[in-house]
Amino acid sequence: MQAGTSIDAWLRAAPLDRLDARILLTHALGLTRMQLITQSERTLSVDEADRLAILVRRRIDGEPIAYILGSREFYGLSFDVTPDVLIPRPETELLVELALQYLPPNGRLLDMGTGSGAIAVAIAVNRPDAQVSALDCSAAALAVAQRNAEKHHAGVELLQSDWFGALGQRQFDLIVSNPPYIVSGDLHLSQGDLRFEPVDALTDHRDGLSALRQIVDGAGDHLCAAGWLFMEHGYDQAAAVRELAIAHGFADVQSWKDLAGIERVSGGRR
Ligand code: GLN
Repeated sequence: MQAGTSIDAWLRAAPLDRLDARILLTHALGLTRMQLITQSERTLSVDEADRLAILVRRRIDGEPIAYILGSREFYGLSFDVTPDVLIPRPETELLVELALQYLPPNGRLLDMGTGSGAIAVAIAVNRPDAQVSALDCSAAALAVAQRNAEKHHAGVELLQSDWFGALGQRQFDLIVSNPPYIVSGDLHLSQGDLRFEPVDALTDHRDGLSALRQIVDGAGDHLCAAGWLFMEHGYDQAAAVRELAIAHGFADVQSWKDLAGIERVSGGRR
């Protein structure tokens, strides 16, 4: 696309989904969506046209919008994201809602496999009384989580830990996790946005349940009496996760549906 083109003409000619084109344009030009409309006749400078061309190329090559922009909204907050972390999904807001509902006053909460820190930070922002800890085995992910905690002035303790490995005897009132749960070889892993996301955050490279099994297995030792465990899982894993929780002696075991009506989180009480 040439410099000298108007914003409006650029939008009509961009070889992209209309919404993506608008998002990239507001990002590249530093405009709001309203300014994009009121300035639709304004022409693009050479510099702007060049910057846009690079963004459009990245999008055409399949890169997720969130990585191109470097951010994604989750639970009403803007989170920095890089290819070191999973892009926060709307269905994961269910985990935040459950944690906010079940965490006792001044409760200690642990988020396992925090990635961008979206879950832990959203909880900490909405519950200043809580003591929020979050772990991840990836140092690169923890650096992103640290930035997000600072950005939202959230007091979150970040720990590098392979699941329960670095926790010692510590106990919490509530544990949440959105672990890798996609089955090894699932076709989705080689399609769309998922191709660009950290594969170890998506799949356990096995049957999809091995991380969930490890969490249920260790959670009992790290939950105080009557503490809740909530885990996100795949659309067809609810029954299996409930069975795991029941087999490990959890009480009140149940599943919760996401906005699409899919059982997306399961958990129980120690
Ligand atoms: N919900 C994600 C997806 O299906 C997977 C996230 C995860 O494995 N924790 O794309």
